[in-house]
Amino acid sequence: MEAQLQARGIVVIGASIAGLSAALAFNRRGIPVTILERDVLVDVKDQIAPNGIIQRRGVPHSMQPHFFLSGLRNALSHWYPGLIEQMVDAGVKEIPVKQCLPRTRNSDAIPKPGDEDLTVLASRRAVLEQAMRKYAERQQGITLRTSVKVLRLLSDGKQAPFQVNGLEYEEGGQTHTLSTDVIVDASGRMTRFLDSIIEEGAHVDDFHYKSNSAYFTRHYRLRTGQDFPSFVGMPGVLFDDLVATTFAADDANFVMSIVVNQDDSLLYDRALSKPAVFEDILRRIPKAARWIEPERAEPTSPVVSWANMDFFWRKLAPDGRVQVLGYFPVGDSVIRSNPKFGRGCTWSVLGSDMLADILARGGSPEELVINYQNALEERFRSEWAMMLTVDKEDQARFETRVGLAPNTIRSRAASAVAHWTSNIAPTVDPTFYRELVKAYYGITSPAAWATKPSNWLRVLRANVVPGASLRLARKYSERPSRDEIASIIASHCPPEKSPAPIHA
Ligand SMILES: Cc1cc2nc3c(=O)[nH]c(=O)nc-3n(C[C@H](O)[C@H](O)[C@H](O)COP(=O)(O)OP(=O)(O)OC[C@H]3O[C@@H](n4cnc5c(N)ncnc54)[C@H](O)[C@@H]3O)c2cc1C
Repeated sequence: MEAQLQARGIVVIGASIAGLSAALAFNRRGIPVTILERDVLVDVKDQIAPNGIIQRRGVPHSMQPHFFLSGLRNALSHWYPGLIEQMVDAGVKEIPVKQCLPRTRNSDAIPKPGDEDLTVLASRRAVLEQAMRKYAERQQGITLRTSVKVLRLLSDGKQAPFQVNGLEYEEGGQTHTLSTDVIVDASGRMTRFLDSIIEEGAHVDDFHYKSNSAYFTRHYRLRTGQDFPSFVGMPGVLFDDLVATTFAADDANFVMSIVVNQDDSLLYDRALSKPAVFEDILRRIPKAARWIEPERAEPTSPVVSWANMDFFWRKLAPDGRVQVLGYFPVGDSVIRSNPKFGRGCTWSVLGSDMLADILARGGSPEELVINYQNALEERFRSEWAMMLTVDKEDQARFETRVGLAPNTIRSRAASAVAHWTSNIAPTVDPTFYRELVKAYYGITSPAAWATKPSNWLRVLRANVVPGASLRLARKYSERPSRDEIASIIASHCPPEKSPAPIHA
């Protein structure tokens, strides 16, 4: 298989984060890659419409906030010499952990061994993707063909395992076919390429869970001579019914979001797409308000919303019975979690590399499918499952908060623990902050911090020992009440002109 791959190469559908990572991963193992991408890909500055929206038809979530975890940065830096430098030249920032540590006088706040692994990348998604694309385009062995829409897979089987041996695509108004031994599907969450093969009888196992988060997001730019406010603790502030996030991005840009629940009759409302409502709410959240002070920054886009969040896991060999050969989904087309966990790009890069490694090592066509499935399982399943649990707990806390579920001692405890561990302790205690982000950034298992009793002692201490850090953490945890938010909405949306609620 390896020699065949090196001779014939592989075809990747989609030139977004997963497709580009797959191309780079195969190419670094000497396997030539052709990427077929439906969109016309122009420079980011030419993608920005007069209203500030970054237009990328195939990636409609381009405008939404993206947090690029240190696991992603570390992998890119390790595998692709010069890529991070090119990203930085394009404006992407590297934010070291020391920049986000709570400001205390004790020695925990000074850099420690291992901190270098916790640096994150900060960028608007489109800028990071473009830097990756330019890097990939310069690699000998990677061919990127744009304005090529893949229509369907070609398969010769009548029963499982179905052998995929090519695809049909449209280019310049003409339909063509392309035969190939390996197709990597990086066409994202909307992939439909397996549908026809499933109709023919392939028993693919899809787990799907709809998550209720919805994002309202606006892009901003610092005014000349201004700087970002200090980063202390986590990039957002978490409440049971909303999360306000602030993400520094490339150059002077940054992205603000309010994340709400789609079952919320107050907050999941088109009124939040009104800039005045969006900003009035943020101005009442001190941690977020600092970013959008009028003298500090100006908005560069409207408020854009996104509510298509889910957990997904696709298996092509359920119970070890291989259903499809020669076709390998990567990125969002195989595994996704609620984007609030910021995992998608990291999993795309790491998962693509695992696939390339398995195919380059070779084996029978069935073994390749099984080995890939097992590798995904081993590397991502526990992290993904933990996030699903947290998402369900977040939903439960939300339901209690808005009166959709009873307020019990247990629910009050869950709410307090979420607040202490997300808002207070990481803003007060540098060691706790490190422990939390190591888990959050995928350096340790997501639950690793919670299994250490010393971390719970730290959480308790952070919440009771008085001092400037605790005062700051409490201030940054202030918010408008739901009644105040209702008044903000009403003040900008007189009933007769009020936009229709989204859930109506
Ligand atoms: C609201 C939101 C916030 C997110 N925040 C984060 C975050 O903070 N951190 C993080 O790591 N991840 C985040 N993610 C997830 C992240 O965006 C994705 O996991 C990541 O981009 C990988 O996506 P992908 O490359 O698999 O697919 P996509 O980015 O969806 O790209 C699919 C590509 O395939 C192309 N394509 C589609 N159909 C065809 C066809 N028929 N023929 C040819 N080409 C085709 C498209 O044009 C596109 O280029 C977020 C996602 C959302 C929705």
